[in-house]
Amino acid sequence: MIRVGVIGAAGRMGLRVCRAVAVADDLRLVAAIDRSKVGHEIGKMIGHPEIDVPVSDELDRLLEADVEVAIDFTHSEVVMDTIRWCISHAVHVVVGTTGVTQEGIQEIEKLLSDEGHESNVVIASNFALGAVLMQRFAAQAARYFPAVEIIELHHDQKADAPSGTAVSTVHRIREDREHTWRGPLDETLEGVRGGDVDGIRVHSVRLPGLVAHQEVIFGGEGQTLTIRHDSTDRSSFMPGVLMAARAVMTRPGLTVGLEPLLELPPLP
Ligand code: NAD
Repeated sequence: MIRVGVIGAAGRMGLRVCRAVAVADDLRLVAAIDRSKVGHEIGKMIGHPEIDVPVSDELDRLLEADVEVAIDFTHSEVVMDTIRWCISHAVHVVVGTTGVTQEGIQEIEKLLSDEGHESNVVIASNFALGAVLMQRFAAQAARYFPAVEIIELHHDQKADAPSGTAVSTVHRIREDREHTWRGPLDETLEGVRGGDVDGIRVHSVRLPGLVAHQEVIFGGEGQTLTIRHDSTDRSSFMPGVLMAARAVMTRPGLTVGLEPLLELPPLP
């Protein structure tokens, strides 16, 4: 049994994660951290009243509950503080919160090394298997289609834009592509051509009714290729989150993205 604590437990993703942990045979939900719903029983909130864990706003609760793996789904403004805390207290952490920058990634690597690698970190901007494959296929297609733009579409409560998935897709494409296609940038209305993420145009749509969706559109002579992924329900993220929670204890250091956990064959 892996002892798990969820940070951001009362949020949209946090509640789902708590429920997924609660029903997993090999995981046990022993702590729930959130700055809202403090004192409420998380078990009752997720339909598992047998779980006797009140929501707390103190990270120290993770130590008191002997948490081995923390799972963070909070906010881009607080996630780095949580990661710093987990590393300095030797708690393994799975990070789903988006908005961690490249500087943040470098800082995590340094912290892990400074603290003697007593804990490990898995950080992924998208835990849905289909989204991981979308990014992989996009990286493959980018070798043949240099012209590319991304449209990401999310629910209207999403705290950040562009999405973490769009940013990591750009990085994935850039790993496999030598030159950048910038396309025409003429705008008669500012912003109408989207945002420039490391040389690739990203367009962020925010609407009620959406969950998490992305299209990577490649343009070539007389043809386009569109790779699209849709998370129509937050349950799409749970297998990946649980996979990371199981893997983080034995994967030394920092793992970025779900792809390394899937043991996919190398790209040709
Ligand atoms: P949400 O606003 O519903 O939930 C966030 C929760 O974090 C809230 O309950 C809030 O009270 C809590 N919180 C914020 N600051 C806190 C703090 N300092 N201490 C304790 N609790 C704190 O948001 P959400 O829709 O659940 O999304 C959470 C994050 O997960 C976002 O960054 C989102 O982009 C990301 N996300 C990632 C994936 C993925 O697959 N990696 C999928 C969906 C969402």
